[in-house]
Amino acid sequence: MSESAVTALRNRADKPGTFAVVTYGCQMNARDGETIASLLTACGLVKADRAEAELLVFNTCCVRDNAERRALGNIRRAAHDKRSRPGMMIAVCGCMAQESGESAGRVFPGADIVFGTHNILRLPEYLLRALDERQPVADIWNEAGSSGDGTIEDAEDIAAEGSVGHKAFVIVMRGCDNFCSYCVVPYVRGRERSRPMDEILRECEGLLAAGVKELTLLGQNVNSYGVGLEGGATFAGLLRAVAGLGAPRVRFMTSHPKDLSDELIATMADVPAVCNHIHLPVQSGSDRVLSLMNRRYNRERYMERVGSLRRAVPDVGITTDLIVGFPGETDADFDDTLSLVEEARFDAAYTFVYSPRAGTKAASMLGRVPEEVSRERIARLIAAQESSTARVFAGLIGSERIVLADEPARRSAGGVSGRIDRGISVTLPGGEDLIGRFVPARIVSAGHNTLRGVILEG
Ligand code: SF4
Repeated sequence: MSESAVTALRNRADKPGTFAVVTYGCQMNARDGETIASLLTACGLVKADRAEAELLVFNTCCVRDNAERRALGNIRRAAHDKRSRPGMMIAVCGCMAQESGESAGRVFPGADIVFGTHNILRLPEYLLRALDERQPVADIWNEAGSSGDGTIEDAEDIAAEGSVGHKAFVIVMRGCDNFCSYCVVPYVRGRERSRPMDEILRECEGLLAAGVKELTLLGQNVNSYGVGLEGGATFAGLLRAVAGLGAPRVRFMTSHPKDLSDELIATMADVPAVCNHIHLPVQSGSDRVLSLMNRRYNRERYMERVGSLRRAVPDVGITTDLIVGFPGETDADFDDTLSLVEEARFDAAYTFVYSPRAGTKAASMLGRVPEEVSRERIARLIAAQESSTARVFAGLIGSERIVLADEPARRSAGGVSGRIDRGISVTLPGGEDLIGRFVPARIVSAGHNTLRGVILEG
């Protein structure tokens, strides 16, 4: 980040006075959105509602077709509004911007600034240039540093906006080397690179000193943390070190099943601060489809990892991602996915209909599954997962849990919602004074996606 651009912007009377960041997609994007908000605040802009903001930043995601369409629709709408709002500016960043590469300036008509996933920290300079030159600025770096100086800038050294709350995300690695055949992440987020452990620990220390009670360590594939770092750092070692700082709760995501080590499972079992929850995307229950997806594990290996987790951490909550309608998926393949959902007893699953992503191997595979077949399959899959969730929830009724209260409950006036160690949402009666506190509770009933509890004395 250029300090001079930040200072220059602070002194510019013609800069937008307010901003809003609209983020789509995963938690990595959410963390980038917080970084962008921090940068703009440092430049003297004030956070505002999306409807009123003078600078709208669309932090996009191209992993799924529907997120992409939603973002494009909203960008177009904002570009239309801009015509009747002199001074309003639009910036587009994130994976869609990165993917657009050299066409960035043309892909988002109406945008004043377009930048990618590798050059977030340059936003103040781009804003300054757009104000000076009164014409759109588009700059997308590739991993080798298309800016010319060969560097990749990551945004970890910028404090997350809002990180002084009771929860914070900490990025431990970026990028992915796995090249699953359906996924654009390795192309838009680059190759894997881990942050040095001491840098991560310094950030965590600062967050804990500021009162954060739950840290979530983020990466596209946290299990391969440490590759390329000196000294043999592992993700399990990092988790232990973060917990050793006195963090009351530590979460992490996302884990690739092929890299889930015995050391990590043992760490989840041994270190009380490490939460009993793992997001372990399986994607399909069919070995044939897993191979086409280039996931590099089969169903047996996945279920062996699930079994090891459950033996070591009996209360573990496992959540997953599932794709239906992958090219060539037959009825028999889909039945394998249904039976895996039954066998694995997931707490929850994010379910998706496959959508081809340009540039990926799967996009050119034969055997496209008709839309109506995919629709029917996903309805059956959701029903199967709902039954699994209901069984998990029923088993938790009557148990005593510690809830970290997060926010006023959306659907229950006079209540707060929070999460248990296992990651499941719980609604409790009580006021906002509970937010940010660990509250002992007994689970008394279960809804669709949430448990309900009563507060225990003491
Ligand atoms: S592991 Fe596969 S699905 Fe996950 S980010 Fe990497 S390529 Fe994409």
